[in-house]
Amino acid sequence: PTRFAALTQTQLENWVGQARVYALTGRLPDYIPLLAQAEAQRVAVAIRSLDGHGYFAGERDQPFALMSVVKPLLLLFLLETSGWDAVFDRVGIDPSEQSFHSLAQLNVDRGFPRNPMLNSGAIALAAMLPGAKGADRCEALRVWLNQASGSRFVLDQAMLASVRSLRNEANRAIAEVLLRAESIDHVETALDTYNHICCLSGTAADLAQVGLLLAQPNAPTQPVHQRAVNALMLTCGLYEASGRFAVRIGLPTKSGVSGALLSIVPGQGAIACYSPTLDATGNSIAGLFLLEQLTQTLNLSVFG
Ligand code: GLU
Repeated sequence: PTRFAALTQTQLENWVGQARVYALTGRLPDYIPLLAQAEAQRVAVAIRSLDGHGYFAGERDQPFALMSVVKPLLLLFLLETSGWDAVFDRVGIDPSEQSFHSLAQLNVDRGFPRNPMLNSGAIALAAMLPGAKGADRCEALRVWLNQASGSRFVLDQAMLASVRSLRNEANRAIAEVLLRAESIDHVETALDTYNHICCLSGTAADLAQVGLLLAQPNAPTQPVHQRAVNALMLTCGLYEASGRFAVRIGLPTKSGVSGALLSIVPGQGAIACYSPTLDATGNSIAGLFLLEQLTQTLNLSVFG
């Protein structure tokens, strides 16, 4: 049995009830119109353990866009299909204390993205996906994720339309620097690919399921790749708050502006949380609350 065996349904539901109150203290992101319309009190949590159990509470059937939570999944796919050198020739492995779409950071680094959890890194990596157009490249990633993990991600077309309605100046400026540094060969295609993959969507159960690709010794993914992705999630996954939550939670975790959170518990399983209101750094308030309860009660930190 895994450490999740000590979890009771009542306890999980109590935490979700408390999380709904915390959710009201956060803010919905205002820059993507469709995300701004989400229902603030929505909370979902899904856990998949390596011994085959699932634990769920809250709106378990509510789909949400992955947004930046796709970044570690993109990284894993490319490590598996293109290999270590091809990936880390394009993107670094160091944390940044700048924001996820910081142009200043990219300029300091002369167009070499500091890590794959920043928009610059993900846009550069998205350009490595096989296929001619954004839609084909996104489809390659989607099909692989679903086949490798058994999850059922779909492209959220309405969210994609919403993201496309933005001027998206920060990401465009990033892509132009990447083009000059020869990290990408086409601004529009790279941006369109990135926008597509951010709009891959599934339920908390799907997200926990795909997380198992990063949690298990006998996953269809190489252990050396799992370790690299997990380390980068731990050091870079929660924006500028990554260091703080390495102490408070101690799990490789990636957040997205949709309120999605994926945490890996190596050798044990994966936890997915969803709640759309965010703290000042852009991480889901209720999701972080749930992660703290889970890690403290079940002793899940990778640091023992
Ligand atoms: N597509 C979003 C953006 O680049 C994702 C950001 C995020 O989830 O952090 O603005």
